[in-house]
Amino acid sequence: MEGDFFAQCYLEKVNACPVCGGQESQTAYAAGEGVVAQKCACGTYYCDHRLNQAGLSAYWQDYQNREHSAVEEECALRQRMYVVDYEYIAQFLKAKAKVLDVGCADGLFLDMFAAAGHVCHGVEFGHEAALRAAQKYPVQEGYFPDLDITPGFDLIIFRGVLQYVHAPRDFFSKAASLLAPGGLVYVTAQPNMESFCHRVFRKKFRFSLTPCDCVGYTPQSLAGEFAALGCDTVGQTFFYEETPYANPERDIQAVSRAVEAKNKGQEPAEFSPPFWGNMMTMVFRKG
Ligand SMILES: [Zn+2]
Repeated sequence: MEGDFFAQCYLEKVNACPVCGGQESQTAYAAGEGVVAQKCACGTYYCDHRLNQAGLSAYWQDYQNREHSAVEEECALRQRMYVVDYEYIAQFLKAKAKVLDVGCADGLFLDMFAAAGHVCHGVEFGHEAALRAAQKYPVQEGYFPDLDITPGFDLIIFRGVLQYVHAPRDFFSKAASLLAPGGLVYVTAQPNMESFCHRVFRKKFRFSLTPCDCVGYTPQSLAGEFAALGCDTVGQTFFYEETPYANPERDIQAVSRAVEAKNKGQEPAEFSPPFWGNMMTMVFRKG
């Protein structure tokens, strides 16, 4: 389905690191479909092609129905994952915190915060998703860095969002500017590009780079970006065994097969399984 959006008319070439603007990137690996994964000296990974404006509009317009809520079983698993994500950040939150979920989709993750008495707001780029979330919460539709948002948030959430953005520093600095003193940025469901699985599976990493998922981070690269904005890293974890996706015996065997293939100079036959370190969760606090 995603492949439909990778037609040439929807793509643009990426000639510099989308985070730092550097042009000294190394080729990491061929990522398939004529695209190449690059690694910048700043630690960022990025795809050398990404969706252009027409591609972004076409992709996000109706993704809520097309992808996000398309498969009932996946939605049920995501719902269980929301609980894991919520319980981790809840330990950092004060009562009645003012929360902003950037890329809030249909607002289901915000529901966890609302149920605990926090005050919820959303930002969403996709039109259908924004309409749905707006039935429950104040939602601003559009491109986060360009939106006129009243500051003073205790928590700003990027859940599975930052791999899609073309100008990450605009998102980081906008978030930092909207935080109240002591406010938190919560990055979660974020692929970790220095995970063991990314190193072994490369383009077969489940969360590898594509023209849509066009930028990847490491814990260090994100920590460095937020440190530059006066935000300290106060939490870092990598959910796996507590997630509804984990099956350690099965997953270890899949990774073992991939390591064997790699040692023979072959591509892994399968995509990477859920595994320790694949996804990162980080919390930054504004000083
Ligand atoms: Zn860079």
